[in-house]
Amino acid sequence: MAEPDPSHLGTEMHALVGELYPLCRSITGDGVRETLRILSRYAPLEVEEVPSGTPVLDWTVPLEWNIEDAWIKDAHGRRVVDFRASNLHVVSYSVPVRARLTLEELRPRLHTLPDRPEWIPYRTSYYREDWGFCLSQRQLDALPEGEYEVCIDSSLGPGHLTYGELVLPGETGEEILLSSHVCHPSLCDDNLSAMAVSIFLARHLSRDPRRRHTVRFLFAPGTIGAITWLARNRETVSRIRHGLTLVCLGDDRGFTYKRTLDGRAEIDTAVEHVLRESRREHEIVDYFPYGYDERQFNSPGFRLPVGSLMRGRHGQFPEYHTSADDLAFVSPSRLGEAFDTVRRVVEVLDANPTYRSLSPFGEPQLGRRGLYRAVGGEGLPDLELALLWVLSLSDGRHSLLSIAARSGLGIEVVRQAADLLAEHDLLAEV
Ligand code: ZN
Repeated sequence: MAEPDPSHLGTEMHALVGELYPLCRSITGDGVRETLRILSRYAPLEVEEVPSGTPVLDWTVPLEWNIEDAWIKDAHGRRVVDFRASNLHVVSYSVPVRARLTLEELRPRLHTLPDRPEWIPYRTSYYREDWGFCLSQRQLDALPEGEYEVCIDSSLGPGHLTYGELVLPGETGEEILLSSHVCHPSLCDDNLSAMAVSIFLARHLSRDPRRRHTVRFLFAPGTIGAITWLARNRETVSRIRHGLTLVCLGDDRGFTYKRTLDGRAEIDTAVEHVLRESRREHEIVDYFPYGYDERQFNSPGFRLPVGSLMRGRHGQFPEYHTSADDLAFVSPSRLGEAFDTVRRVVEVLDANPTYRSLSPFGEPQLGRRGLYRAVGGEGLPDLELALLWVLSLSDGRHSLLSIAARSGLGIEVVRQAADLLAEHDLLAEV
């Protein structure tokens, strides 16, 4: 398949982020539906609607939330806080309200970031009935004492939780899961960036059906969406061999890979290999039990080997969950690099067979087969070293990727060695 041009794709992905940016997403509601509809233009998603009240694992699908408008008006009837200017102005899941309040009465319901006086914070009131507004500290400081009229024209009632899925079948039923959360309103890095990377990869992979693995893309609201999906897909879960949650992939930081709970899964080796090979700045961190939906997938009952690929880390960059996570905060080139990285991870996982030596008792005589130079001496060339590593570890339990990791050799030379040994009937694929 032709290598896609990451810089061109980066521009396209950035345009998609721009199109999705204004939509008011939440854990349920029309914002998620519209988002999935737009994503489906690139690769067709199967959209599932799960009714409010449905028990899912230890949780219950919540009421559906939608919002038309919201504002705070001053004594002159002017909108001093306006949902139409930014959907971050309303605490997500706010119950409907219409009231007159003094500024003092209103204050406990107003959220700001005093340290970043120009930015609007992103806040939610999931799973409790509440309401509130978010605004910049500068906006708050400009409000005179007095009476204000507030309106949140929202609805919270029985409806559905919506998620989207796309399955690209491979030759085997073994699956790679790529999951991104779709519940944040106007925030670009978290997580429109990952939605864009994911759907573009789905489009790219769907153009070439030759694959060992089935690749499953999941676009679901954070936490409750992943929990709902897990509750309804017990059988699918048993086929997942590797997975990633994709998060915050468009900002200017280097990559961070958060390992699976086990830390030694094939996905861990694959991502670490791809990041090293790319020579892009990156950091590898061990699993920790917060962050995104990797914690649902890795929970004791499922223990799926799902790591997390991101750039900026959860809660560790100032723009995180604020209005500064806007279109300028993500760039086409960074989105292009992220696409390239995830594509390469899938490619590496898909070309990672495990072999069994057909001459396992002692070392087979390679010189006789022309595979090993006749004269010993100084250090071995990589290919000869790779032949020895592959023969040593091919007991049916070590994949080529794990041999590459163990030996410190590149996956290409390890694969080349395995191909040569298989040609000489010294290896059989398990
Ligand atoms: Zn977030």
